[in-house]
Amino acid sequence: MYRTHTCGELRLNNAGQKVTLAGWVQKIRKMGGMSFIDLRDRYGITQLVVDESASHDLNATAEKLGREYVIQATGVVAERTSKNSKIPTGDIEIKLSEINLLNASQTPPFTIEDETDGGEEIRAKYRYLDLRRGPLKKALELRHKMAQETRKYLDGIGFIEVETPVLIKSTPEGARDFVVPSRMNPGEFYALPQSPQTFKQLLMVAGYDKYFQIVRCFRDEDLRADRQPEFTQIDCEMSFVEREDVLNTFEGTIKALFKNVLGLEMNEQFPRISYADAMKYYGSDKPDIRFGMKIAEIKHLTGGKDFAVFDSAEYVGAICVEGAASYTRKQIDEITEWVKRPQVGAKGLVYIRLAEDGIKSSVDKFYSPEDLTAIANVVGAKNGDLILILAGDKKRTQDAMGTLRIEMGNRLGLRKSDHYAPLWVYDFPLLEWDEETQRFYAMHHPFTSPKPEDMDKFYSSNKEDIAQVCANAYDFVLNGTEIGGGSIRIHDSGVQKRMFEVLGFGSEEAEYKFGFIINAFKFGAPPHGGIAFGFDRFCALFGGQETIRDYIAFPKNNAGRDVMLDAPSVIDAAQMDELFLKSTVSK
Ligand code: ASP
Repeated sequence: MYRTHTCGELRLNNAGQKVTLAGWVQKIRKMGGMSFIDLRDRYGITQLVVDESASHDLNATAEKLGREYVIQATGVVAERTSKNSKIPTGDIEIKLSEINLLNASQTPPFTIEDETDGGEEIRAKYRYLDLRRGPLKKALELRHKMAQETRKYLDGIGFIEVETPVLIKSTPEGARDFVVPSRMNPGEFYALPQSPQTFKQLLMVAGYDKYFQIVRCFRDEDLRADRQPEFTQIDCEMSFVEREDVLNTFEGTIKALFKNVLGLEMNEQFPRISYADAMKYYGSDKPDIRFGMKIAEIKHLTGGKDFAVFDSAEYVGAICVEGAASYTRKQIDEITEWVKRPQVGAKGLVYIRLAEDGIKSSVDKFYSPEDLTAIANVVGAKNGDLILILAGDKKRTQDAMGTLRIEMGNRLGLRKSDHYAPLWVYDFPLLEWDEETQRFYAMHHPFTSPKPEDMDKFYSSNKEDIAQVCANAYDFVLNGTEIGGGSIRIHDSGVQKRMFEVLGFGSEEAEYKFGFIINAFKFGAPPHGGIAFGFDRFCALFGGQETIRDYIAFPKNNAGRDVMLDAPSVIDAAQMDELFLKSTVSK
């Protein structure tokens, strides 16, 4: 037997027992003639002591130990004289009688403690060492718990977990596919699934009624910060449902996760807001509603005062930044520069300050105190507040207002990671027009159904009509991050065909790419809908972290590489030949 207990287990009431532990040497401290060893395993850290009275052999072995050596240690549990209240085993130590060296270790390239001195690159290269650290262990434990609780809850309400294939034909979800050559089918390729979208719909056609899967998805996208080429979804689909059925089912799931993973009871119904309102009040389709600071449209209050910037603008929007009237000129100038950055894209910033000595603005030349007060009333500003105003064309200025709102939320410390504000956003546009390629793209994916009341427009030959069609689609948003998205699907083969037509697929191309699903819909497809949650990000948010990488055991870096494996990599000529491949780059 390697051990009688784990390194996280022993307490004062074990004092006097003879125990054997096994683990890694985290740290050794020598004091006088004594050696103190912090022994670590997955469960915790226990202090071991080799004191002056120990045998020569034991002292000699302790002398040899270095960081990350693997040992088995036997001794008697004793109460510590100086206790460590930071760790659960901090009241005791083990007075050693024996150390058995199980394996030596090279000196690790960074310190394996909660706070490490290792940079990102080196930690990624030695991921197995980084994973020994407490914060990563905690992250993976949280992920495990999230997965278990999800399974438990969904199983409890009749969902069946079905695995779907990884080698498939491309499903268009807006990103590029990763492809896999096929030795047995020269010149042909599989695609890795961007999501199991079509399979879950086929499972509905097959009558499975409630499906879920915790599943790996692959998207060959240009990697923005904190995106992974492979990631995990909680993927779900249900038959004979309308939007509210889906939202209620998964609101239940999410609440169960909050309760069972974080111990948070969420009794209120999550707010639901339309896409149009989300844009109007928050300048974002994924509003962070941990704080107010709603955007107000004030164009109607600004006209006719000869201020050309506002007069010529399609849209004028304002937010009230509570308590910020005390901002100095320099601070406001700095925010003005900030909104002009290309990422925000505003041309300039107008402010109104509601200070003790009256209401003042950067446009006093054009607006009287009464005019400014009217604006203050509309945005709900009171004495001590600062109003920030942007103007321009509607879509871009709304976006910029949204970005500014988040920035001010950050500056005011209103976005606390331990405060959770979930909501649903619904009724997204079905399509987006792309000027460059002169065609429509599905905003969600091509299987999302138009709202029934918009069917006439959907079949219209007029582009403007089609652009206005609303989708029966919804997102789950948590703290300003989109965590889940789904829709009620098309289940009629005619409507599905029309969708491909609107997206500019010729009927042959549609048949070649999607014949299987159009056909399936001819065999009694039930009305159905579903949703998928980005599991990695969900875990990160539950852990109060911004980055998903810590919640994935072996993630890729920002360039999509696994630096530990050094992948992707070239394959040898024989393997290339076998796959009927020729590369146009030489490496
Ligand atoms: N397959 C979709 C996605 O990956 C989710 C869904 O519509 O259920 O975003």
